[in-house]
Amino acid sequence: MDTIRRTLAVLIAVLLFPVLFLELPDHPIFIVLKIILFLAVLIGLYLAAFPEATLADIGLPGHQSGSGTVNETIRDEVGKQYDGLIDLITKIIESVNSKYGLAIYILSPGKQSFSLQKSSGSIFQSEVQQDNEMLQSIKNNPSGIVIQKKDAGDDWNSILTEQAWRGSETIIGSAIIFRGMPVGCILVYTDHFSEVHEQDRNIISGLSTLFSNGMDQIEKIEKLSMDSYYLERIANMVSSIDIRTEDDHLWDGINHLCRSLFSYDKLTLSILETDSNEATIKLVDGMIEDMNSGETFNIQTTLHGRPIREEETILSSYWENDYQDSGRFKPGDSSVYHFMSILAVPIKINGKTRGSLALEQLSTKGYSETDRHLLEFLALNLEGILSWIEEYKILHQSAIHDGLTDLLNHAAFKERFEEEVSRASRFNQFLTLVVLDLDKFKRINDSHGHLYGDYVLQTVASIIKNSVRTIDVVGRYGGEEFAILLINTDKEMALAVSKRIVESIADYAYSKDGTEVKMTISAGMSEFPTDADQIRDLIAKADKAMYAAKAKGGNLVTVFGDTGVEMPSFTVKETEDNESD
Ligand code: GH3
Ligand code: MG
Ligand code: MG
Repeated sequence: MDTIRRTLAVLIAVLLFPVLFLELPDHPIFIVLKIILFLAVLIGLYLAAFPEATLADIGLPGHQSGSGTVNETIRDEVGKQYDGLIDLITKIIESVNSKYGLAIYILSPGKQSFSLQKSSGSIFQSEVQQDNEMLQSIKNNPSGIVIQKKDAGDDWNSILTEQAWRGSETIIGSAIIFRGMPVGCILVYTDHFSEVHEQDRNIISGLSTLFSNGMDQIEKIEKLSMDSYYLERIANMVSSIDIRTEDDHLWDGINHLCRSLFSYDKLTLSILETDSNEATIKLVDGMIEDMNSGETFNIQTTLHGRPIREEETILSSYWENDYQDSGRFKPGDSSVYHFMSILAVPIKINGKTRGSLALEQLSTKGYSETDRHLLEFLALNLEGILSWIEEYKILHQSAIHDGLTDLLNHAAFKERFEEEVSRASRFNQFLTLVVLDLDKFKRINDSHGHLYGDYVLQTVASIIKNSVRTIDVVGRYGGEEFAILLINTDKEMALAVSKRIVESIADYAYSKDGTEVKMTISAGMSEFPTDADQIRDLIAKADKAMYAAKAKGGNLVTVFGDTGVEMPSFTVKETEDNESD
């Protein structure tokens, strides 16, 4: 604060001298100098009167007080800055001429009107139609114009409240420019034209410039605050994601975030799963007719492939002009779906650019640098999340799978078993558990060595895996024991599957390093919910059935019966027991 005070003091001292002691010509540069001096004196006086005050307290844009930056805080903060700016303008006008009345109008496109932001007194209308020619001409005139009542048409009465006019009433108006576009105007009203000096017109024009610059500053503040707000939103999303759950949770989170931060007709998130050129769409929001999630596209020569291919952000309000790609997702599709604007950023996963996140609009409205900044920021955060998820998946994959057979290990099988039982009970479905144990396997190890035993275990595992559907669950339950969950399958259907497996294992010619062996397996089955509805009981009953098969010499499937007694239902080999009850 001291530095600001000192700078102000020097500024006042340097400017005061020529203004007080030299004859200055009416050149615009001196008028601007006078305005700066005036503002400096005003701020200086304020700071002198309230030594603890900061620049933020008087609403000068670009200086924020307070630390809250999230949610409503941003709106509050930006609102405060805006109000402060308007107050400042009001104070200056009052000091120029206490008889002046002030109004600040800003266009509100939604309402198709100029809406009054601030006025001194109550002579100004709170809403003025957008087509009001008087305000339009002021809005388009940044250097300020003077209009007398007697020269103004009916438009005058739409701006000022009805009263007995003399004709000498005057308005000085000047445009407010925001992002290079006229967005409103400052009006200063006086009863008598004679009171208006040329210099006042310049001051008012200078004030509208001050207001315009202030709005730019406020936008910057909003953007900065937005970053913190955005960071917090991202942080919330990251912490809410359980990477063990379905990817859909992550895509939903991203979708929600994008919806609240950007406007688009289509949002697309695509990921390159492997080293191929085909990217898979993971998330689509908005228009889905041209391309929906789950579909794939080639990243070569396509617009959506560009961020991945070129590892660069693309920002365009007329992409066909700016990028010579053959289509958005495939060659020629741009002639069917007329998307114009695009903002698309690359996403890295574990160090490689493997994804793109794109916002598209049918109009040429386009995206700003702020949007680009935010989307790149989101992509950076996604890089962290997606890399983390991928790592987790690799780790998880090895943690739940048996290293020798690549089947689910015991713990993972039990976990899946619990999930499948609750699913089956939810959907009122049958579920059959098959427990299998190799017959006299130990002799293989003993006669041919452990490695040969491993080979047999791997071969049996792949026979089992290949005999069931992908939705069925296969696990290595113990050393030479396996378990299968046949989804939505009753005992009768399961018997056919088990029979095929037992048969295939018995028929297979195991051969390694010139040594051939034969191997058989025994299987027992129990059915959910008929035999039991608890996992523990289902396993015990299937085990019991399996041991019953083994007791009969193996190479057999036994079904656990409703009565609780084992019912050998099937025999593979003629030499073993035949089907009997
Ligand atoms: P039964 O018909 O009663 O089931 O007899 P079995 O020999 O199959 O059963 P037992 O439980 O007596 O022996 C199982 C053998 O499986 C003992 C163990 O050394 C072997 N085994 C367990 N895991 C592995 C493995 O990963 N690799 C190899 N090569 N052998 C294994
Ligand atoms: Mg065993
Ligand atoms: Mg065994």
